[in-house]
Amino acid sequence: MKIKRQKQAKKTISFYKYNFNFRQPFQILLDGTFCQVALKNKIQIKEQMPKYLMGEVQLCTTNCALKELETLGGQLYGAKIVLQKFQVRNCQHFQNPVPASECLLSMLQDTNPHHYFIATQDRTLTAGLKKIPGVPLLYIILNTIVLDKPSQSSSDQVQAVQLGELVSPAQQQSIRTLKEEQGIGQKDGERRGRKRKRKQSNPNPLSCQKKKKKGLPTPPRTKTDAMGKKKRSRNKRQKTEGDTSSSAPSVKAP
Ligand SMILES: [Zn+2]
Repeated sequence: MKIKRQKQAKKTISFYKYNFNFRQPFQILLDGTFCQVALKNKIQIKEQMPKYLMGEVQLCTTNCALKELETLGGQLYGAKIVLQKFQVRNCQHFQNPVPASECLLSMLQDTNPHHYFIATQDRTLTAGLKKIPGVPLLYIILNTIVLDKPSQSSSDQVQAVQLGELVSPAQQQSIRTLKEEQGIGQKDGERRGRKRKRKQSNPNPLSCQKKKKKGLPTPPRTKTDAMGKKKRSRNKRQKTEGDTSSSAPSVKAP
């Protein structure tokens, strides 16, 4: 039973650590009812609390909780002695103390920004704090301290945050990582495409060079043509010269 209880506590603590940013030393806000029951069951809060929560704790209370025990007096004297040993956190009711349940609820505000655990046996306080998300509840049952499972409002809040994250920050991060991964993939694709383009572009200059090589022999042909034309012109001149020389003696002869 102890192992099961410890396992459940570990699970619940990690829930609050992960989802509500709870960190050691855990702030345990106690009231007179918890101290009274602890005293009756001979539970050493200072010793048991860190063991059960598996970490450093700061046990604290408020002036209103102490004042309430003072006014009730008598049977709660022992509880008052226990509670007095803890740190007193400032509340809003310094001049006009209110019932402890009301005071501790006010310490939680709307979002429990100081990450308080509440240790109480007060049912009205328990009902009130369960409406506030992210408030771990400690109570005593069967001579042992028990960390209550996360309340419905806490798990609802976590679900809402998770859904919200799916729309905004968490998914944006995942999208960024996905884009980076896809970007790397696109770069590979682009590189492959470039390689393909290079392969396509390579044959073109090669073919151009081949055409140039094919074209190179043609200019000598034109040169030979020019030479042939020149030769022809020389032949024509020679022929005309020969014709004149041959016609001249025929004129001189008569
Ligand atoms: Zn107060």
